[in-house]
Amino acid sequence: MGRRTKFVDSDILIIGGGFGGCGAAYESRYWGRDLKIVLVEKANVERSGAVAQGLSAINCYMGMQWGENQPEDFVRYARGDLMGLVREDLVYDIARHVDSTVHKFEEWGLPILKNPETGRYLREGKWQIMIHGESYKPIVAEAARKSASEIYNRIMVTHLVMDKARPNRIAGAVGFNVRNGDFYVFRAKAVIVGAGGGSHIYPPRSRGEWMGRTWYAPWSTASAYGILIPTGAKMTQMENKIVLTRFKDGYGPVGAWFLLLKAHATNAAGEFYEKDRYPEIKARVGHYVDILPMPTCLRNHAMLEEIKAGKGPIYMHTQKVLDTKEKEEIGWEDFLDMTIGQAVVWAAQNIDPKEKPSELITSEPYIMGSHATCSGAWASGPEDCAPADYQWGYNRMTTVEGLFGAGDTIGGSAHKFSAGSFVEGRLAAKAAVRYVMDHKAEPPQVDDEHIKRLQEVVFKPLENYTVGRNEIVAGTVAPSYINPLQGLQRLEKIMDEYVGGYSMFYVTSEPLLNRGLELLQMLTEDFENIGADGLHQLQRAWELQHRILTAESVTRHTLFRQETRWPGYYYRADHPKLDDNEWHCFTGSQYDPKTREWNMSKLPVHRIVEGFELLRT
Ligand SMILES: Cc1cc2nc3c(=O)[nH]c(=O)nc-3n(C[C@H](O)[C@H](O)[C@H](O)COP(=O)(O)OP(=O)(O)OC[C@H]3O[C@@H](n4cnc5c(N)ncnc54)[C@H](O)[C@@H]3O)c2cc1C
Repeated sequence: MGRRTKFVDSDILIIGGGFGGCGAAYESRYWGRDLKIVLVEKANVERSGAVAQGLSAINCYMGMQWGENQPEDFVRYARGDLMGLVREDLVYDIARHVDSTVHKFEEWGLPILKNPETGRYLREGKWQIMIHGESYKPIVAEAARKSASEIYNRIMVTHLVMDKARPNRIAGAVGFNVRNGDFYVFRAKAVIVGAGGGSHIYPPRSRGEWMGRTWYAPWSTASAYGILIPTGAKMTQMENKIVLTRFKDGYGPVGAWFLLLKAHATNAAGEFYEKDRYPEIKARVGHYVDILPMPTCLRNHAMLEEIKAGKGPIYMHTQKVLDTKEKEEIGWEDFLDMTIGQAVVWAAQNIDPKEKPSELITSEPYIMGSHATCSGAWASGPEDCAPADYQWGYNRMTTVEGLFGAGDTIGGSAHKFSAGSFVEGRLAAKAAVRYVMDHKAEPPQVDDEHIKRLQEVVFKPLENYTVGRNEIVAGTVAPSYINPLQGLQRLEKIMDEYVGGYSMFYVTSEPLLNRGLELLQMLTEDFENIGADGLHQLQRAWELQHRILTAESVTRHTLFRQETRWPGYYYRADHPKLDDNEWHCFTGSQYDPKTREWNMSKLPVHRIVEGFELLRT
């Protein structure tokens, strides 16, 4: 039977049913009662995205009802953690709305732990609250399911589609059903991208059969950037990759251990190394080392220096804090709610956390815009507090008209986490509804010829395989195509060795980056000859394409920023220090798909919230 083509028209198309996407669906319905709201998801919204496995904490909650924190405090915190560079308008906008979203989650059935003495939510840290979050995603997905007009699960979006008549306006997207191969053409008046950040752009420390055990979900394939970049949308801070300190081999989270249980990390000799490293860090980054809490990347840096000096393993002393049954339960549940693999590592390696410390290590880099770093699209800010440079119409609209984003998609505003990404989906949706109302008379126009060409492009890997497999005598190595796993491993090797992966201790330089770009160029050319032996591999092929484009963007931004602002995330060996005179700015890029040229720029940083971060005295 031939492949079917299906056309789906909507007012608002949401791509990705994760936290940003679910927030967008919920809020689109609130403001757009009669609008047709379509959500498309490559997996199933019920258990998709970074929160599929659950979480044990909501990392962004102000607690304004109890006067715990104010949004301005949060902006100062995020600004400090990112060494001065955040879009304060966007961070503020999330902080002022996040509490009411968390209250909704509780109303919808999410169990939030309470402090028995105060009756308030149990704080893990200043910004985090503890949850029983194994079912966090299904709870949030239910709200999206009840709000959207239609949800299309198992459709992988491969490309966004621009309007035929207005070159900088969005008109929809195309993709295919990963189960039956139907080709989908979505036409929409406004599009909100919530397709998540990227793992496996760098090789994970896990090898062989463990390859799927990464910190960030292996199914998060940087589509948020991979589909956005070809539209010419301006991107920002793509060099700001994240490296996490985590429990070794299982990537178990450390937040509850450090913040709630008050465990300490030392080197193998039992020494607290951070303070010893202070003078060296100060020489690199100046006063930023004095910010409290010490910026995340600098804590990574201190640990890395210690490991390089042969003073590892670094140990988290779990055995010193598990003195009650309740604390022991918190420790285990922290993993069982969100990173079950870490509990399995403990079992497999005979580690009883009451008896023995556990090793910590830094992860490979990831690209995302909602955790402690802020890669993503350059977006218009909120009307009431964004300065003129940051505003061109609708909140969270990218530089492409009618194209909005949320969560990992939007750059410049770190520390949104799960609740903040949902909030951003809501903010984007509110603005997108207004955009649709304002442009009622201008329905999207899709170029049929272009759609036909895209259809050929999308399914070409199946053709490449069908033709090329006849040349194989044995095994999987083919003379005329590469398969998606081979392409992925090549990408990871390039990024690791030339763009600051873990095997290079995150070090790179101009010559390394230029060589990396040459090799990425060759990989891009070879992608034309990728072969897929079925629909599953076809999905892997397009995921790889999104990763390659994201990787090139990361490499170009890293080359452009001639300083080392975030030691512990990456190092420019040829510019080893932070340079506020030249680089107190955001980096920007715009890709032209016709010429394949990248236009790099510096974008201004405006301070909106006065007052200083907390400083070490
Ligand atoms: C390992 C890890 C631990 C975290 N821990 C915490 C924590 O403890 N507390 C906390 O509050 N936050 C935590 N976060 C942050 C939180 O998970 C993210 O901020 C949030 O999920 C980002 O929302 P998003 O919508 O951008 O991406 P996601 O929630 O990942 O959603 C992206 C969605 O897009 C879909 N998709 C991707 N590509 C396509 C495509 N091409 N076509 C169609 N659909 C597509 C995906 O399947 C997915 O459903 C953690 C994140 C990670 C990665």
